[in-house]
Amino acid sequence: MRSADIIIIGGGVVGASVAYHLTQRGAKDVLILERESQQGRGSTGKATGGIRAQFETEINIRMSLHSIDFFKNWEFDSGYEPRGYLFFATTDEQFDYLDRNVDRQRQLGVTGVEVVDRAAVGEIVPGMICEDIVGGSFGANDGFIDPLAVLEGFTKGAIRSGAAIELGQEVRSINVGGGKVRSVGTDAGDIACGAIVLCSGAWAAELARAAGIDLPVEPLKRQIVWARSKTELPPALPMVIDIGSGFHFRPAKNSKTEMLFAYPDPTERPSFSTDFDEAFFGKIYDRAKHRAPFLCDSEIVKKKCRAGLYENTPDHHAILGGCHVEGLYFANGFSGHGVMHSPATGRALSEIILDGNARFLDVSCLSIERFSKGHLLHETAFI
Ligand SMILES: Cc1cc2nc3c(=O)[nH]c(=O)nc-3n(C[C@H](O)[C@H](O)[C@H](O)COP(=O)(O)OP(=O)(O)OC[C@H]3O[C@@H](n4cnc5c(N)ncnc54)[C@H](O)[C@@H]3O)c2cc1C
Repeated sequence: MRSADIIIIGGGVVGASVAYHLTQRGAKDVLILERESQQGRGSTGKATGGIRAQFETEINIRMSLHSIDFFKNWEFDSGYEPRGYLFFATTDEQFDYLDRNVDRQRQLGVTGVEVVDRAAVGEIVPGMICEDIVGGSFGANDGFIDPLAVLEGFTKGAIRSGAAIELGQEVRSINVGGGKVRSVGTDAGDIACGAIVLCSGAWAAELARAAGIDLPVEPLKRQIVWARSKTELPPALPMVIDIGSGFHFRPAKNSKTEMLFAYPDPTERPSFSTDFDEAFFGKIYDRAKHRAPFLCDSEIVKKKCRAGLYENTPDHHAILGGCHVEGLYFANGFSGHGVMHSPATGRALSEIILDGNARFLDVSCLSIERFSKGHLLHETAFI
C-alpha cells in the first residue's frame, strides 16, 4: 500500500495553506488529495476576496491580525490592497455595537480603525444615500486579497518544500482502526498515513461522518452579482457593508466602473447547489436602489455573476484542531472567512500537528468539542 505521513484532503486555499505551513516547519511527506482536475473549483474560486480585522470576537480579530500581517510580508503576491472596510449602521443599537467592536479591536492591537459619523460616511462614499445612516466604523487596513493568487502561492511554496499534490483524486473514506487514523480510501486504492487534515470545505461533514465524527458544517449558497456602473465609481471606494442587512458592495479589481454586490439571502436553505439563480437580480437591486445611484444605474455582467458555497457552523466560527480519533484534524467551517484566515489556519494546524498545540495563538476555543460542551462563540459581524 502507498503511504504518506500527512494527508490533506482538499486542495483549496485552506488545504494549500496547511501544506505550506507544515513544509515550512520541515515536514516532508505531505500529500494533498484534490478531487477536481484543477485547484480553486471549490469555494476559494468563488470568494469576493475581502479581508478585515473588524470582527466582534477576540479569536476572529487575532486570526485577522496575523493573516493581514502575513499577506503584507509574504514572499508571494497575495494581491493585498488596503482599500478599507466601511460598516454602516442605520439604528442606534447597531451603531453602539460597532462602537464597542472598535474599542475591542483597538485593545487587541488593530490600527487604523475608527468610529465615523454620518458625514464621514458620506465623505468616504460620495454619492451614497446617507439620510438613514446613523454612523459606522472604518478600518483602513482592511481591504482585498486575490483568492486564487493566495491559493497559488501556498501551493507553489508547499511543493517547493517537498509536498505533493494529486488532482482528480477523490477521497472516498477515512479509515480508522484502534482509535487512530490508518488510511484514506480512493478509487486508486488506499493510502496509509499517520495523520489526516480534513480541508474539504463545504463537503467535509460526510467524510467526517464516515470516520464516526459529527462535524457541524453545513453548505449554504451565496451569490455575487457583478455589474458595470453607468457612471464612474467613487475614487478609493472601499468594501461597504450595511451591518443591519448584510448588503455589501466593493469595486472590482483595477476597474473604475465594475463592482460586485451581494447580501445573505435569508430564504436560502442549506444545499450543495451552486447554480446562479437569476431571481436574485431583482432582490439585490431592490436593496441597491435605496443606497446609491451608482449602484442601481448599472448593467449586470452576467458571465461574471457567480454562486458558491459558504461552509457554515452553528456559531459562524471555524473548527480547528484534532478530535478523539488520533491523527484526525479539522480545518473547516470558516463561514465566509476562509480565504482571509487561511494564513492563521495553516500555521495553527501545523503547530497543532507538529507540537501538540498552536503556540503563536491560542485557538482552543475553535475546537470541535465546543459544540458538545455548549461553549459556542458569538459573532454578529458575519455577512
Ligand atoms: C460567494 C462567496 C464569497 C466569499 N467571500 C469571501 C471573502 O471575501 N473573504 C473570505 O475570506 N472568504 C470568502 N468566502 C469564503 C471562502 O471562499 C471559503 O471560506 C474558503 O474558500 C474555504 O477554503 P477551503 O479550502 O476550506 O474550501 P474550498 O476552496 O471549497 O476547497 C475544498 C476543496 O476540497 C475538495 N474536496 C471536497 N471533497 C473532497 C474529497 N472527498 N476528496 C478530495 N477533495 C475534495 C474540493 O474539490 C475543493 O477544491 C466566500 C465564499 C463564497 C461562496
